[in-house]
Amino acid sequence: MGARDQLESHRAELTGFGLTNPSGAVVVDIDDEVAATAIKDLPARGGIARGLGRSYGDPAQNGGGHVLRLAPGSIVVDEQACTATVGAGVSLDDVLRVIVPRGFFVPVTPGTRYVTIGGAVASDIHGKNHHLDGSFGNHVTNIRMMLADTTVVDVGPDDDPELFWATVGGMGLTGLMLEVTFRLLPIETSRISVDTYRLDSLDDVMTEMVASESDFRYSVAWLDLLATGRRVGRGVLTNGAHAVTDQLDPAASNDPLGYAADQIAVMPPLVPPHGVINKLTVKAFNEMWFRKAPRQRTGELQSIPTYFHPLDLVGNWNRVYGAEGFVQYQFHVPDDAVDTMVSIIHRLAAAQLPIFMTVLKRFGPGNPAPLSFPQSGWQLAVDIGVAHRRIGTLLGEFDRMVLAVGGRHYLAKDASMSAETFRRGYPRLAEWQAVRERVDPAGVWASDQSRRLGLT
Ligand SMILES: Cc1cc2nc3c(=O)[nH]c(=O)nc-3n(C[C@H](O)[C@H](O)[C@H](O)COP(=O)(O)OP(=O)(O)OC[C@H]3O[C@@H](n4cnc5c(N)ncnc54)[C@H](O)[C@@H]3O)c2cc1C
Repeated sequence: MGARDQLESHRAELTGFGLTNPSGAVVVDIDDEVAATAIKDLPARGGIARGLGRSYGDPAQNGGGHVLRLAPGSIVVDEQACTATVGAGVSLDDVLRVIVPRGFFVPVTPGTRYVTIGGAVASDIHGKNHHLDGSFGNHVTNIRMMLADTTVVDVGPDDDPELFWATVGGMGLTGLMLEVTFRLLPIETSRISVDTYRLDSLDDVMTEMVASESDFRYSVAWLDLLATGRRVGRGVLTNGAHAVTDQLDPAASNDPLGYAADQIAVMPPLVPPHGVINKLTVKAFNEMWFRKAPRQRTGELQSIPTYFHPLDLVGNWNRVYGAEGFVQYQFHVPDDAVDTMVSIIHRLAAAQLPIFMTVLKRFGPGNPAPLSFPQSGWQLAVDIGVAHRRIGTLLGEFDRMVLAVGGRHYLAKDASMSAETFRRGYPRLAEWQAVRERVDPAGVWASDQSRRLGLT
């Protein structure tokens, strides 16, 4: 049987995690062996790789074209070198199940472990440790990828660095990643030692974040955007570090690297068309969430899923916003534009939208990737149901405020940005486009997002 006969495909309507922007494509399931056949088979509308579809908008969609889904490959750990070489279709969930019991952690994890390694590199994901460790691409030593002409190349920070850094954060538009080698973080235990602070105002949250950031590898704050008056932006700051064996109680010491990551619930498929989120339910939830946190607690031991991936405990929670879906508005502003961050938070609070997912983080310096999102300063991520009429106008105003101070928006969360907003936020776009022109002159790789933003 020829390789062509082995291609498995079907038509499907796809969305991202936010359930907005549906589009229809031919989904082709591939592995390393048939990848070249699948690329040669692409129609004029081109193709794009898709991982686990955890981007919020449309970067892993290609309406009218093909979408390539790479099968999970192998996970090979080199304990001496402290690295893992992993198939690009493997999930972080699978990687963690292999490496944590062996005394290693991933260098960067997002707020969900249901992402692929290919998706992690293509979005150059960041975690709660960006202020100290940078983003995922900082820890990648090699990417094996198949280019548009089906040649396979290995690229790294010292090996065709232009293509390497264009692929980190390049949203799948430079080629199909097959395998990625990245550094691992040695750990003594699978527990995280967490310090929690309940803080009564936005000013208190931001002051404490800056004061404590060099003491903790991980740091993140949840904000209450439905509190009013002086309490606007009050929040709960959780700082974390990998616990050492001396911190474990006798029971936990028997299995210091024990790791279990299970879902405890799944949202029912039938939620009301407009979702279950409204201002009253969210206001009550936020109040409960704020009060539940201790005023100050230090050294509480939490599991990896509890500290890093609490949202993964409930499957399909993205349906709570109803059929129209939701957006995550995520942006960065530099340190000297902290007033802009404060002003946007106050304006969001004044709008009194039913928002419970609001995450404030500090970023350290960015890396050399032209399209990587993180830069030194502050970042905010806010989930908003698209059914709310005012959000278009509000987010348009925020876009202008963010761009005016040299900030930008995260491509992995974008579902509606204009090409102009994107271009102004990413001034090194031409540099990235020159690399893409070199490796994909015919424009084989394309997505709904790349066409909307003028990336391709
Ligand atoms: C609950 C939740 C929390 C999150 N928290 C964070 C966070 O804290 N920090 C953060 O940075 N992100 C976060 N994200 C976003 C997520 O990490 C990124 O969107 C990530 O890229 C998703 O990976 P995926 O495998 O689902 O990729 P997809 O969404 O399927 O694809 C994303 C991009 O990767 C490309 N791609 C995928 N595989 C390959 C491949 N083999 N070769 C080339 N390109 C490929 C696609 O073409 C696409 O452009 C979060 C998402 C969710 C749902």
